[in-house]
This record gives sequence, C-alpha cells and structure tokens, in this order.
Amino acid sequence: MNQSQTKICQNCKTDFTIESEDFAFYDKINVPPPTFCPECRLQRRLAVLNERILYKRKCDLCENEIFALYYPDVSFPVYCQKCWYSDNWNPMDYGKDYDFNKLFFEQYKELMNVVPRFAFVNLNSVNCDYCAKVWNSKNCYLTIGFETEDCLYGNYTRWAKNCVDYFMLVKCDSCYESINCTSCSKVYFSQCAIECRDSYFLYDCRNCSNCFGCVNLRNKQYYIFNKPYSKEEYEKIMRDKYDLSGFENFSLAREKFNEFVNRIPRRYAALLKTIDTTGNNIVGAKNCRNCFDSDTLNYNTENARYIFMATGVSDSYDMSETGEGAQLCYDSVTSFGYNILFTVNAAGESYNVIYSDLSRPAHHIFGCIGLRNKQYCILNKQYAKEEYEEIVPKIIQHMNDAPYADKKGRIYKYGEFFPIELSPFAYNETIANEYFPLDKKEIDNCGYRYTDIRKYKGSYDLTIRAKDIPDNIKNVKDDVLNEIIGCFNGNACKGIGVFKIIERELEFYRKNNLPLPRVCPDCRHYQRIKQRNPLKLWRRQCMCGGTQSDNRVYQNTINHNHHNDNHCSNEFETTYAPERKEIVYCEQCYQQEVV
Ligand SMILES: [Zn+2]
Ligand SMILES: [Zn+2]
Ligand SMILES: [Zn+2]
Ligand SMILES: [Zn+2]
Repeated sequence: MNQSQTKICQNCKTDFTIESEDFAFYDKINVPPPTFCPECRLQRRLAVLNERILYKRKCDLCENEIFALYYPDVSFPVYCQKCWYSDNWNPMDYGKDYDFNKLFFEQYKELMNVVPRFAFVNLNSVNCDYCAKVWNSKNCYLTIGFETEDCLYGNYTRWAKNCVDYFMLVKCDSCYESINCTSCSKVYFSQCAIECRDSYFLYDCRNCSNCFGCVNLRNKQYYIFNKPYSKEEYEKIMRDKYDLSGFENFSLAREKFNEFVNRIPRRYAALLKTIDTTGNNIVGAKNCRNCFDSDTLNYNTENARYIFMATGVSDSYDMSETGEGAQLCYDSVTSFGYNILFTVNAAGESYNVIYSDLSRPAHHIFGCIGLRNKQYCILNKQYAKEEYEEIVPKIIQHMNDAPYADKKGRIYKYGEFFPIELSPFAYNETIANEYFPLDKKEIDNCGYRYTDIRKYKGSYDLTIRAKDIPDNIKNVKDDVLNEIIGCFNGNACKGIGVFKIIERELEFYRKNNLPLPRVCPDCRHYQRIKQRNPLKLWRRQCMCGGTQSDNRVYQNTINHNHHNDNHCSNEFETTYAPERKEIVYCEQCYQQEVV
C-alpha cells in the first residue's frame, strides 16, 4: 500500500495530503492521484453549475420565448425542455471520429459547441416556470427543490412547503430565512434547527417550540435567549419587545441574536447519526471524510470522501450534488449511477461513463454529450463493444502523452475533471463563485470566463428606494407590487440592483407578520451562503479551558470529564477556521453544556 503523500496543488500551489487509503481508492477505479487540492477540485466541479441565473431567450429549435440558464449568444444551441427531450433531434448526428492528432479536450470542446443543451432542469413539475432545477414540484418560484410546493427564493429543499428565502431545508413547512433545518414548521431566521416549531432565531436547537433567540436547546418551550418564561410572560414579551413586523425592530433583534450566539460554545461540526465521519451538516454517514451537506433519510452514505451535497453515495470521492445510489464514482457533478468518472449530469441508470455530459441514461460512453439510451460511444459516435474497449485505453494513453494545457498552463492529463475554461457557463454565473468568489479581474487572471449578467438581464429604473418602503408590514399597501425597489446594497448588489415583490410573497410576509426585505433575492442568497461555514476542515483543539472557554467569554455550567483545572485535550476537524471568533467545543464538552 502507498504511504500518504504531500503534494502541491497545480492550481493554488498550497500543500495537500493524499492518504494511503485514498491511493487504494484511486487504484480501485484506475485513475491517477489528483494534482489539484480538494478545494480546487470542488471549485472546478462547481464551475460547471449554474442553478440560479436565468435569462430570457429563444429555444433554438421551436423558437419559443423561454427562460434558460444560458444567455442568448452562447456558442452552443439551447433547447427548451420539451424540445430537448423530444425525438426532433438526435445527439448521434454530431458524432465524430476520435482524432489522435488533436487533444481530447479540444475535440470535446468542438462537440460541446454543437450539441444542444437543455434550458434548465424542470422535471415532472407544475407551475414552476422560473425555477432552474425542480423535480416533482408545484407552484415554486426561483427555487431549487425536490418534491417541493409553494416555495419562493430558495435553494435545495426536499419535501418542503410554503417556505420563503432559505437554504437546504428538508421536510419543512412555512419557514423563512432558515438554513440547514430539518422537520421544522414556522421557524424563522434560524440555522441547524431540527423538529422545531413557531420560533425565531434558533441555532442548533432540537424539538423546541415558541422559542426566541435560543442556542443549543433541547425539548424546550417558551424560552427567550436561553431563559425560560411562562406562556403568558413569553407572549407578552413577544408582543411588547420582539414584534418583528417592523424592519427596524427585526434588525435590532437580529443584531442581539448574532451577538448572543457567539458567546455560547458550538459543536465542532453538525454530524448526526454518523460513525467515523468528518465534515459538516451530515446526517447518516459511515466512514466518510471531508463531507459536507449530505442529509440522507436512509443513513446510507458510506466510504465517501470530499463530497458536497451528495446523499446516499458509497465508495465515491469528489462528488457534488448527487442523489441516492451513486457507487464507485469520482470527480463528477449532478450524476447518479455506477462508476461515473469526470462527468456532469449523468441521469438515471447510467454506468461506466467517463468525461461526458447530459446522458439520460447511458453506459460505456467516453467524451459524449446528450446521449440517451446509448452504449459504446465516443464523441457521440457509435462503436462495437470490442472496438470501444480497444480505443478507450488508447485515448487515455493519448491524453497522458499529449495533455491539454489551459490558458494559465495548468496541465490536464487523464484523471482531471474538465478545465474550468471548458465550462458551458461563465465563472460568475456558477455555484463556484458562491463558495470561491472572484471579481472580474481575478476571473480574468485565472483564465476563466466572465460575463456581464446585467447586460443580458436588462436594466430597470427603480421607482422606490429600499429605505423608503414602509417599516412595518402592516403599513405596506398592495401597490408595492408595482414598485421596482432599489436593492439596499446599491453598487455592491449581487443581482441587477433592483427587485420586485411578488403577490404570493407579500401574502407570506403579511400572514407571518414579517417586514419586507430590503435587499434583492440575489443578495439574500449570498447573505445566507455567508452565514454558512466554508466547505473546508481545519484540525483544531477544543476551546474548553477547564471551567470556561479559552477566550473567557463563556463560563461552563457544570464540571467536565477532563476536570476543571485541565484544558480539554480533544482535537477535531472543523469548518471553523482557527482565527474565527466563535467558541468551538468538542463533542463531549459541547454535550455537557447542551440543555
Ligand atoms: Zn488548490
Ligand atoms: Zn441586491
Ligand atoms: Zn473538549
Ligand atoms: Zn470541557
């Protein structure tokens, strides 16, 4: 077995370690060890995903006006969903012989420039026309979700209803501005809440109801900033002090909570029902390392590493946005199936897919785009099984002998995911820009593509400034629906600088007694991303100093097992960087302080 090795990342030039068990995995699937570090690999994968930015354009087949993830003058055709899934075109028409005098990625790029791509993913859904990615959903708007109903402005829901402005909710109802919550109802401005109801500003609470500004509570009711009250007292304080129907009052409460939450120890990572697992926001996993945001109902994520939003995958590395069942997969995005390598959008029962995109489903394909029910194809050309098995090793050899070099000299042999410069999206349209943000100049310097999104979205003159809309929702008139509101972030706006309130949204704010937002949906999305921890782990020691936290902000409430006069010696891997101000405790110390 190989010893663990330290390498220097081709991209960011920092050190990263490949463990001996990693070598065993790479050997098993016959790929060389990576030359990019885990973060740069994640960035590269996320750079092929635009899930939020939609443009008005025409379908290149039926010529109907549609919304699409691609702006009108991209280099390849874009078809509306109906056309793309129809028999009115054949991906095999674009097939080409593999040319050993040209680089593989060059030939792949030529194919990419001609094969039609779908406008967005909107499967089996009703009245979700302005959603980039929905399955089995109903009445959603600017939403990414699975079996989701009546949700607005949010990313990643499964089985959610009536939620607005959220990030990663599972089985939630009527939640607002909440992040990574499961089985909650009427939970507002909260993070990592499980089975909570009718509460505001919760952090890491479970089975709580009627709580306001609470952290680390279990099975509690009528608590305000972690202090118990009677039902009557609670209701009175809510009425007199924490009525959030006004924006100013809400802002004060938010400030107070943000200050409060940092004075209380946090668990080093959000791991639930996990065995031998490192990462964050994981439910149900065994023997997983560096995994993020994987919440599975079947608790069947196993032997996975460097995965992000990949639920129920096993024996797989470097997977992002993947559903149940992926096995022996590596460095792929939005792909399901068995032995999928360096691939994007492999749907259904795909297997043995290498360097491909938009297969639905297919097996034994290499460098193909848009194939349906095909096997033994290279660059969208059909081969006999024996021919395919003979040519593929030659192409792999060719990729190693004549590797692709990108604009900045990064080298891509067999075993590297697609270079970011080959992405169908500009860098600033993609999820990569949310987790690894770069400005225009930095994007240019990295050799990636930048696009002026506003140019395609059109510009609108604002009719009212955010600060001039009524403070209290009770004073907001219906005619606010006609206003074009200037985003409060002004020049720093992540969207187009202005936004509108839609009717269903106004109804939601009125019903839930919440003030109108002052910033646009894009800025709200980025604010939520900012509240989440990075997708990276640091090795750190527990900050429990014996009777209080190292920074002396928090006084322990009981004696810990490691004795009062000793500093806790536990170490862990955490998404809290060492320089951060939060108090981070190990599992044991944290559990002692949870009430
Ligand atoms: Zn790197
Ligand atoms: Zn904005
Ligand atoms: Zn500790
Ligand atoms: Zn302790």
